[in-house]
Amino acid sequence: MIKVPNNKMDKIINLCKRRGFIFPGSEIYGGLANSWDYGPLGVELKNNIKNEWWKIFVQQRTDVVGLDAALIMNPKVWEASGHTGKGFADPLTECKECHKRFRADQINTSESCPNCGAKESFTEPKMFNILMETHLGSVEGEKSLAYLRGETAQSMFVDFKLVADTMRKKLPFGIAQIGKSFRNEITPGNFIFRTREFEQMEIEYFVKESDWEDYFHMWQDQMISWLTHLGVNLKNVHFEEISEEKRAHYSSRTIDIEYDFPFGQSELYGLAYRGDFDLKTHMEHSGKDLSYTDPDSGQKIIPHVIEPSFGVDRSLLVALLEAYHEEDAPTADKDEAAQRIVLKFPKWSAPIKVAVLPLSKKEELTEVAKSLYEKLTKQFACEYDETQSIGRRYRRQDEIGTPYCVTIDFDSLTDKAVTVRDRDTMKQERVAINKLENYLAEKLIA
Ligand code: ATP
Repeated sequence: MIKVPNNKMDKIINLCKRRGFIFPGSEIYGGLANSWDYGPLGVELKNNIKNEWWKIFVQQRTDVVGLDAALIMNPKVWEASGHTGKGFADPLTECKECHKRFRADQINTSESCPNCGAKESFTEPKMFNILMETHLGSVEGEKSLAYLRGETAQSMFVDFKLVADTMRKKLPFGIAQIGKSFRNEITPGNFIFRTREFEQMEIEYFVKESDWEDYFHMWQDQMISWLTHLGVNLKNVHFEEISEEKRAHYSSRTIDIEYDFPFGQSELYGLAYRGDFDLKTHMEHSGKDLSYTDPDSGQKIIPHVIEPSFGVDRSLLVALLEAYHEEDAPTADKDEAAQRIVLKFPKWSAPIKVAVLPLSKKEELTEVAKSLYEKLTKQFACEYDETQSIGRRYRRQDEIGTPYCVTIDFDSLTDKAVTVRDRDTMKQERVAINKLENYLAEKLIA
């Protein structure tokens, strides 16, 4: 029986710290509010998500190519895109009693303060630009203002022509990028959901204007497939059509893909039709021609853009939320708890694929186990663990989502076979050592 804990976020934050997924940033200096460090297992999980996304959306497609552009761009880029002005500002309001700040669009300012309960205590909302500033140059007084990018998207517009020409791409085609973005968020919080430094996986898909609706649907379907692949139950996902008043002025259709987080329904991903705004504005501001010549008609056109946008950290958070299970797991082993916490990640995303566990620390067993570990670790992310009872070791692997545990026991020395335990079914199977690599490869690819 699966029990869903009521304070699931706290349990996940706790597990992430305890098991090396995510640590509070700068902890020994008292931390830095809302900054998080991905630990050894967190970085594996995050890399698996980014690599899988790249494989699916770039490498396995003939119509999308990748980019890894500079994080700090000419500040003129952000002026042209509207990010230095009102386009990248959130309405900030402050409670006059407790001085806590809120995003005016996220609370009801006619109601009492969610922090201290004071009535009618909010200041008039002021627009607050969330682009993060930095300074380039080493000589004081000669430093120039620059920005840490607020989104990965702009470099894909700025480099559009270079990519199209060098890769000889014809419409429709896309440019994809994975990388860090920075925003001076007014209300960061909810663990890794909203931070000031985060990662995005974005695609700018360039189409002829007449085709935009077809490709909008295509990307919506692709995003749904990705969510299923990530292990997300679609009953927790909502497609919110953004009304005209709330959409960016250049967009004639935007969908927010929202998820039932434990703290409420909130944005996970976005899908926007951006028209020809981006290329046009960069043409105007740079004075450079970013048009595309249609090979069929010979006509020069400005391509229109569909933008599927995925947050890496929010993907990782939903992967954890969906994978987390507490289960009754009756056992004859007195060292094995009758309840288990198990992260049922899809196998491709699990940070560790195989754990190699000698039944005891006796040298004749550890020798076999270590040589097996060395062989397997060339192919799969493996962990070697020889401390405490086998029951406890199984539970430790369940808690980090390892799909297979391989146990080497005294019979292994004579029958040249090992026991393979499946994370989800907890069933055990005897497998010949010389067939183990193929066995695991088949199971892990399935
Ligand atoms: P929100 O409404 O939550 O502020 P947004 O609409 O501003 O998000 P976009 O600009 O569309 O977000 O960014 C695309 C994606 O990047 C989001 O769907 C989300 O997954 C991710 N993202 C945006 N801001 C943050 C943040 N501060 N921390 C973590 N991820 C973020």
